[in-house]
Amino acid sequence: MTAHFRVRGDVAVLVPAAGMGVRLGPGAPKALRLLRGEPLLVHAVRRVALAPSVGCIVVAAPADAVDDVTVLLSSIVAGETCVAAEPALVTSGAFDGSVALDGSGALDGAGASGGFGAAPGVRLIVVAGGASRQASVAAALAAVPDEFGIVLVHDAARALTPPELVEAVADAVRGGHGAVIPVLAVVDTIKQVDNSGVVVGTVDRSVLRAVQTPQGFRRDVLTSAHAAAVDEHTDDAGMAEKIGVAVHTVPGSEAAMKITRPFDLAVAELLF
Ligand code: C5P
Repeated sequence: MTAHFRVRGDVAVLVPAAGMGVRLGPGAPKALRLLRGEPLLVHAVRRVALAPSVGCIVVAAPADAVDDVTVLLSSIVAGETCVAAEPALVTSGAFDGSVALDGSGALDGAGASGGFGAAPGVRLIVVAGGASRQASVAAALAAVPDEFGIVLVHDAARALTPPELVEAVADAVRGGHGAVIPVLAVVDTIKQVDNSGVVVGTVDRSVLRAVQTPQGFRRDVLTSAHAAAVDEHTDDAGMAEKIGVAVHTVPGSEAAMKITRPFDLAVAELLF
């Protein structure tokens, strides 16, 4: 991947976190389930805030938890005002996914898991989420301040995503791509089955990719994609595809695994 210059704080990250997470079993909304004693949302936002490009984080919280989530996150995202235009230019290199799972990678300020402090200058906005992930993202997108031209969408459920992946996605958008997604190769053989579970075919996995977040967009692309969407989509790139935008891929990270089922949470506890 070609390295580009990145401007400190020119990226807004939307974090949909309003899902109930029924596949994780009974309990609190998924984003507020604990991993090593802290909510998944805290882990996710902390790592996003450590990415130097990020100037604003907009969280879509469960409607009855907006105030609680604001308090929860205010100690790790300290900024009241945006510092989006500060022209601190740093070169960024290619990201190959090989960083520590606690976020302690090569980026400035990223320490070991116990050493994270509040991210200075990152503005936090918390809005009420909607009935679907798509509605939650739309609510968060509507709250992004005007100065941010790059918008990333990142599931709170990918709590251990390294800041380097956030930078890599932002960097690719800054480099000219309207829509960017992190992907991993598919390792399992994939079969298509009919309604009774009988195999109807084997899919060529060499052309398949498993898709992660954060997904990155030029702001106008994401706004147009949401405005045009009529069906529910499980990701935002799918909406961009629908309006004819080419979606660029960058290497994803095993650490950006989605914590969906109890097994995933147990794995994340061990990886942390
Ligand atoms: O349900 P799923 O695992 O696809 O959710 C992905 C992300 O979308 C999670 O972070 C979840 O909290 C969020 N979500 C949301 N609002 C909803 C449903 C899901 O913000 N109504």
